[in-house]
Amino acid sequence: MYLKSLEIHGFKSFADKTLFEFHTGVTGIVGPNGCGKSNVVDAIRWVLGETSAKALRGAEMADVIFNGTDKRKPVGMAEVILTLADCEQGLGVDYNEVAMCRRVFRDGRSEYRINGTICRLKDFQELLAGTGIGRSAYSVMEQGKIDMLISAKPEDRRSVFEEAAGITKFKGQKKEALRKLEYTEANLLRVADIIAEVKRQMGTLHRQAQKAKRYQVVHKDLRILDLHLGHKHFTEYTAEKTESENQIISLMTELNDLHQRVHAKEQEVTETREIYHQVESTINGLRQQSQEFRSKIQGAESKIEFNRERVEELEGRIRRNEEDATNNRDMVDRQQRELAAADEQFSSIRNAIESRQYALEEHQITHNAIIPSAETGDGAPHPARNLPPAGRRGRHGRCQSAEPDQPDGHRPSAARSPGA
Ligand code: ATP
Ligand code: MG
Repeated sequence: MYLKSLEIHGFKSFADKTLFEFHTGVTGIVGPNGCGKSNVVDAIRWVLGETSAKALRGAEMADVIFNGTDKRKPVGMAEVILTLADCEQGLGVDYNEVAMCRRVFRDGRSEYRINGTICRLKDFQELLAGTGIGRSAYSVMEQGKIDMLISAKPEDRRSVFEEAAGITKFKGQKKEALRKLEYTEANLLRVADIIAEVKRQMGTLHRQAQKAKRYQVVHKDLRILDLHLGHKHFTEYTAEKTESENQIISLMTELNDLHQRVHAKEQEVTETREIYHQVESTINGLRQQSQEFRSKIQGAESKIEFNRERVEELEGRIRRNEEDATNNRDMVDRQQRELAAADEQFSSIRNAIESRQYALEEHQITHNAIIPSAETGDGAPHPARNLPPAGRRGRHGRCQSAEPDQPDGHRPSAARSPGA
């Protein structure tokens, strides 16, 4: 068996897919510091089933995924495929080549495959057990590990030798067998406990079995009695059933009868409903008519009221006119009386005027008879000319010519009389 190739993709500094083919004669990888030599060893350790992130020089398992550089983005998955050839004897399998593939994702998921078939980490460990290339084997010695091995405790060193001698696998199998033995012994103990418990329960179960037998006997009797009772009930129920059936028949007849009556009543109801609807519509028409009449009556009433008010008003006016007519009639009477008085006064005044005119004419005649010599004389004033008329002298001999006439236009009769 030999290491044929190693394919690394996204693991630590190997962002791109990188294939190492270990041809015959290849004994080492050389390169400058920090070029990734130890990362190749880490890849081999990791693909062989390493679970400690610290052993891979990281804090957690996701640190093995390419983390990116200044010029390149990080990747989401690391994958390493290690191919071993001539494995039939070394690994005890049927294939010549065995490709072990391990993947890890950023979310923590991981995947193991042997020749493309998905498997568990345990299958990796079982496959490599005793071959010297397992996780804790001596075949991979990283920087400083040899120093550590030399200075390690004898027990730790012993495990390396045991792996080299190829007994690790058997030791594992022995450990597994011992664990199974312990488990079986514990099971045996539990079985003994159960047997003791069952023995303790047997007395109780025996008593319960006796009870159950008695129960069965009683139950059998009960069944027979139950059967008899059932038969009795059956007979009674059959009679009842027959009676009930007869009742049902008569009830059915009654029901049919009732159905027919209900049908007839329903028809009656339908007819009545139709009549009711007709009456209702008539009532509605009458109600409408009554409404119209009521509104007409209201109109007539308001007209009557208006006319009544008008009549009252006209009657008032007639009364007032009658009063006015009475007043006017009185006034006409009074005025007629006044007119008559005025006529009388007028007649007396005319008479007075006429008498005065007459007196005046007489006086003129008298005057004319006296005066002609004076008018044709020497021009000396006649003493009578400068005298005021006798009637115009006052009581004290003063001149009264400036006196106004009496309001009625008469002069005192003494002054008027030409003979006075
Ligand atoms: P030396 O000769 O000093 O032992 P080396 O060749 O063994 O050096 P490694 O230790 O294998 O070098 O590689 C170190 C390099 O790997 C560093 O440059 C580091 O930045 C890089 N590296 C480690 N882990 C990652 C990672 N997850 N992603 C990207 N680069 C990483
Ligand atoms: Mg190194």
